[in-house]
Amino acid sequence: MNVVVMLGAPGTGKGTQAPLVAKRLRIPVVATGDLFRAAARDGTTLGMEARRYMDAGQLVPDEITVRLLLDRLGRPDATHGVVLDGFPRTSIQAKALDDALAAKGERVDVAVLIDAPEEELVRRMSGRWICRAAGHPYHEVFSPPLVPGTCDLDGSELYQRADDQPETIRARMAQQLDALEDVIGHYRRSGVLRTVDGLQGIHEVAAGITRVLAEAGIHIEDAVAEHDPR
Ligand code: ADP
Ligand code: ADP
Repeated sequence: MNVVVMLGAPGTGKGTQAPLVAKRLRIPVVATGDLFRAAARDGTTLGMEARRYMDAGQLVPDEITVRLLLDRLGRPDATHGVVLDGFPRTSIQAKALDDALAAKGERVDVAVLIDAPEEELVRRMSGRWICRAAGHPYHEVFSPPLVPGTCDLDGSELYQRADDQPETIRARMAQQLDALEDVIGHYRRSGVLRTVDGLQGIHEVAAGITRVLAEAGIHIEDAVAEHDPR
């Protein structure tokens, strides 16, 4: 089982890079933000509860988030591993994940930190469009889709997230960065943290991730060729 955790502030490129890694390892991406958005869209109790926090740019409480994540990890397609995007976001979540994996004799293999300065992140998120079907991210300037308004990967419609407004973006940053530092510390202590410079183009970041995964003993081919068909 391969468990890869993608770490980074909002907008660093986790959602862009996670599918590239997952595809090569033939395991799913599990993105808690996407799970929450789907639950909110379906109008479930958990989804409606989560939406209150999301719309305010706040983290959803750990108890709800851990329940959602562990439920997802129990599904059959996650048997051989997962690439986690957006989880864990607090030390409590990191510990809950460790405990759940340890119960199966498993552990997080590598936590990949994509590092980029805040101003760049606001720029990235203000131009972000994501697909309805799977949350694949695009950028109107940095990573436009081949056909405007349509996902290259699954053909679904692209939309801008309600919380990708400059004020909410800054609120998310302010609220999440301390917790992110805690999670980074957690994985540094367990010796699985690897850092990639996120202030490079999408292809260079992908190559950097391929390198740090190899250092952690996970060998995948370079993702560049398949990511951009142009
Ligand atoms: P995260 O999942 O970490 O919040 P995303 O992967 O959604 O971040 O990326 C945020 C925005 O920045 C998206 O619009 C994406 O297309 C764009 N983006 C991602 N990586 C890069 C990069 N290396 N350079 C420029 N833009 C990027
Ligand atoms: P971003 O990286 O831009 O914050 P996500 O799609 O990862 O976007 O998450 C959207 C929202 O969903 C977050 O602002 C937060 O409210 C909630 N969320 C996602 N993952 C978690 C988590 N692990 N813990 C708590 N809240 C979460």
